[in-house]
Amino acid sequence: MSLRVGGLTPFTLIDFPEHLAAVVFCQGCSWRCHYCHNQHLWKLKNKPLIPWQAVVDFLQVRKGFLDAVVFSGGEPLLQKDLLAALQQVREMGFKTALHTAGSVPKRLQQVLPYLDWVGFDIKAAFADYEKITQISNSGFKAEQSLQYLLESDVAYSIRTTLDQDKLQDLDMEALYKDLQGYGVKTELQNKRSNT
Ligand code: SF4
Repeated sequence: MSLRVGGLTPFTLIDFPEHLAAVVFCQGCSWRCHYCHNQHLWKLKNKPLIPWQAVVDFLQVRKGFLDAVVFSGGEPLLQKDLLAALQQVREMGFKTALHTAGSVPKRLQQVLPYLDWVGFDIKAAFADYEKITQISNSGFKAEQSLQYLLESDVAYSIRTTLDQDKLQDLDMEALYKDLQGYGVKTELQNKRSNT
């Protein structure tokens, strides 16, 4: 198992509500959101910047201090080893959380049984996704992932980034309708996205 890790935040109070957590930043993202401030994580490098075993060693000495481990990115769902990493972290006694934009629906479905919470990043109305991600078909994938998430019993928050440069391109009414169609309460945040 060799999850490709691009960074590690040893302690956070804000990335998993009401939990003390470490954040593992996974390499790789296939979308190209113009406002992404983790562009250094877009490419899946051959070697991780931080070996997975170093993350495990770090967590071993944080047992009893940290509640949880958050997998963020980049897009953690791109890596097939995410599942094994989640299983290992749970076996160590930590809760698990995921920050995702849902670009790989089947992998989200696969890992949901090993998650305690998901922070799901919605980019736009599903029909408008390409304006943000610059990738065709991305809205379809996000919608499929949202369906898998809502069908699960995993706790979640759904976040939307409102970027001033693209506001005029976004049909906010369509976004509200998409989310309300799935019974999601709309809560908008004016901050930049990590996933
Ligand atoms: S904001 Fe998230 S989904 Fe968009 S390019 Fe950056 S890491 Fe990928």
